[in-house]
Amino acid sequence: MSLSQLAKSISESPTLKLNETAALLRDKGEPVIHLGGGEPKSKAPIDAIVSCAALLSTGDVKYTPADGIPALKKAIIRYTEEHYGRVAAAENVIASSGAKQSIMVLLHAILDPKEEVIFPVPYWVSYPEMVKLAGGVPVPVAARNGGFEPSVEEIAENVGTNTKAIIINSPNNPSGAVYSDEFIAGVVELCEKRDLYLIMDDTYNRLIFENRKPTNVYNFSHALSLDSSKLVVINCVSKMYAMTGFRIGWAVGGKQVVRAMTNIQSQETSGPAAPSQWAAVGALNGVQSSVESLRLTLENNRNVMMRRLDAFSGVKVVKPGGTFYCFPDFSAYEKDSQKLCHLLLDKVRVVTVPGRDFGMEGHLRMSFCGTVKEITEGVERIKWVLDPNAPNELYLGDRKLTRDWR
Ligand code: PLP
Repeated sequence: MSLSQLAKSISESPTLKLNETAALLRDKGEPVIHLGGGEPKSKAPIDAIVSCAALLSTGDVKYTPADGIPALKKAIIRYTEEHYGRVAAAENVIASSGAKQSIMVLLHAILDPKEEVIFPVPYWVSYPEMVKLAGGVPVPVAARNGGFEPSVEEIAENVGTNTKAIIINSPNNPSGAVYSDEFIAGVVELCEKRDLYLIMDDTYNRLIFENRKPTNVYNFSHALSLDSSKLVVINCVSKMYAMTGFRIGWAVGGKQVVRAMTNIQSQETSGPAAPSQWAAVGALNGVQSSVESLRLTLENNRNVMMRRLDAFSGVKVVKPGGTFYCFPDFSAYEKDSQKLCHLLLDKVRVVTVPGRDFGMEGHLRMSFCGTVKEITEGVERIKWVLDPNAPNELYLGDRKLTRDWR
């Protein structure tokens, strides 16, 4: 079979693959603990369901405008005003099938072949592949100090004549790090000075802890209007409203780039599914208590995860300031994160994601979006596999495991 060079250069999303593996093992009755997940356990808000059901009950489910139904764009405009203090026009907004599609059509709209897109390490697994899909060249930038936030100087050192955009995701998937205001301000300034697009991926913006306020990237911009700026802000209902399956995300940016994105989306997929758009309208305009309740649950889960990992000698972990991920360093036990991930799945049926997929070896991404029981038992099982001082036997349900390694 002959496939394109592009197809051959793109790898499968490792997180989606792990979801499949976990589901297959569960179907076989295996006692899997999924610490690799990327979605909250809670249900979609009732306002989303009612709004979606209202459309479905008419049976009149048709194509929508390529950039989204007016009601959703209106809700996004209101959201932008409330959370960012910016007044957007309908032409500044595009709704897509998930934040993923918003980012993808944006990259298609701005990149010429071989143009470069910079993003900090560790990065969301999809950024390099999406940049490649759009014909560009991904340029991951690691902090020389080994931390989760490179300096603005380190980012600037990588800006060259081919650089077109910088992607920033804070709080960050996979590290959970909330980047400092100084860093965000510095990157905004760098983009404005060098005339680069800044793609601000705010997917986890409201899922932050210790009563911190979400960072508003516009506060650091000197642009007089959305249209005179190359800043594009990405959001979605996926994480904050636990609506991953609805597949609704959006971008707010200058009219010109949004028009180009709309043209591309109109040819690629047309508008997002109408029932999902109405669900998003319900979520955005409805009672917001579910976001706060999710945030509080995640903060509690984060604390449980940290206590468990802190008691795990040899594992270095930085407390995440947001998201539902942490990114501990297991290199004292195993430097090859893929090998470690397979070992944990194989021996004790715990799913994690290798740090290598996020650009940082020796780490594992561990999610705390599940239950407290899953977190505590998952970490206990990992400890049993790795800690040479752990007892020789472990019970998974009524199955007795005996350590025959290390
Ligand atoms: N951006 C980041 C950083 C993410 O972690 C994800 C999903 O995991 C997305 C974007 C995509 O979100 P959506 O499910 O709305 O496409």
